Amino acid sequence: MGKPEHISSYYVATANQSLNFSQLQDTLDCDVCIVGGGITGCSAALQLAERGYQVVLLEGTRVGWGASGRSGGQILQGFACGQGRLNQLVGAEAALTLWQMSLEAIELLKYNIKKYDIQCDFQQGLAEVAVKPRQYKELKAWAEEMQRHYNYHSMRFMEKEELCSILATKRYLGGVYDTNGGHLHPLNYTLGLAKAAQQAGVKIFEQSAVIRVTQGQQPVAVTAQGQVRCRHLILSGNAYLHQILPAIEAKVMPVSTYILATEPLGKTQATQLISNNMAVADVNFVLDYFRLSADWRLLFGGGVSYSTVDPIHLTQTMRRKMLRVFPQLQAIKPAFAWGGHVAITINRAPHFGRVGSNVYFAQGYSGHGLAMAGFAGKLMAEALAGTSERFDLFGEIPHHPFPGGRWLRMPLLVLGTTYYKLKDLF
Ligand SMILES: Cc1cc2nc3c(=O)[nH]c(=O)nc-3n(C[C@H](O)[C@H](O)[C@H](O)COP(=O)(O)OP(=O)(O)OC[C@H]3O[C@@H](n4cnc5c(N)ncnc54)[C@H](O)[C@@H]3O)c2cc1C
Repeated sequence: MGKPEHISSYYVATANQSLNFSQLQDTLDCDVCIVGGGITGCSAALQLAERGYQVVLLEGTRVGWGASGRSGGQILQGFACGQGRLNQLVGAEAALTLWQMSLEAIELLKYNIKKYDIQCDFQQGLAEVAVKPRQYKELKAWAEEMQRHYNYHSMRFMEKEELCSILATKRYLGGVYDTNGGHLHPLNYTLGLAKAAQQAGVKIFEQSAVIRVTQGQQPVAVTAQGQVRCRHLILSGNAYLHQILPAIEAKVMPVSTYILATEPLGKTQATQLISNNMAVADVNFVLDYFRLSADWRLLFGGGVSYSTVDPIHLTQTMRRKMLRVFPQLQAIKPAFAWGGHVAITINRAPHFGRVGSNVYFAQGYSGHGLAMAGFAGKLMAEALAGTSERFDLFGEIPHHPFPGGRWLRMPLLVLGTTYYKLKDLF
């Protein structure tokens, strides 16, 4: 069997560097072994190496192969569960601190791009938009709440008229525009982080899937051809971590979401669709999200599969969704369609923590991980170096395993989400 490679996507076709790391063939000793080369793992590796730790990162396929190299590229503040839910889960004071950390996550992303000169087509501006009158009211109230109680002023509400002057669709009733959000090429960002980590001294191995870990004073990560002994282990396989540590894996559920990239539209036609080049996401439970690429395509994301089995006619399915928003693209040809797994938690808040004293993990960003995953890497590095208050605050968010165990959790989730899909209709 051939070695696992990247899937086909617009991002892989436009990756601006090809990093090839060798396969682990040996027994190595280090301070920290990281399992998973997405944004969480690469960021943790970089942060730790810069603090003087000897770090080995093991990636099962290729760096950026998972969600980090496939995502919508939308940079979002806050958390998928929303601040209201976070207040209920941890109390208002802690929820406010977590919100502030979500802003710091965006700052870290921008800092990384600048410091390591990562070419990833960063663009400022993101709108979350309402499809239903209920959502219109909720978004308006949210923008007011953020300004009044969170002192957050980069966000403002746009009425339909203003939104329609930017976005060439009549589908949305209004939305919240945030200059602090934005979008980027997520694979190029991830590769940029990996390169910076390598330059900081991290030993990265690809096609080196960890098949087993042993815990204890000196944890060991075992691959088919080698092993790494370490003092601390970081698990950053997120939705793709499979049967390594069942207790934490039971608290997330892999769910597929999909993206279609059109052929290049040219700058004129592309900016007729989204004149200010912002990213856009609606606030349905099963949401549409879209943006322009640097070469003026529309990247249109949406849909979910709880079975994680891709639709047979993925391109046609995604095209139908895109035409519901932009019927004027009828004659435009799709160029790429792909999907990936998002790790969701039951309450849609991220799940960070420790197993024993020296195994750390961060997962379950619930579709909100582009900025937060990088920050999770920083928090794990901080915690490992002895300052764990901020990491531990995330650990206070209560999480439950998906009911039904490995085989039943999917049908139960489908039942649960049918309720929310119905709610999206009103
Ligand atoms: C289609 C799609 C669209 C998305 N859109 C957005 C968006 O617009 N905005 C946003 O904020 N978030 C979005 N997300 C979510 C976001 O991409 C993720 O939250 C984030 O990238 C998670 O990063 P990660 O490093 O934790 O996981 P991943 O990027 O999935 O990386 C995990 C890595 O671990 C490796 N791995 C797993 N198990 C092992 C093992 N045993 N041994 C070795 N390696 C292993 C995998 O091969 C993989 O490369 C989207 C996700 C998808 C799939």
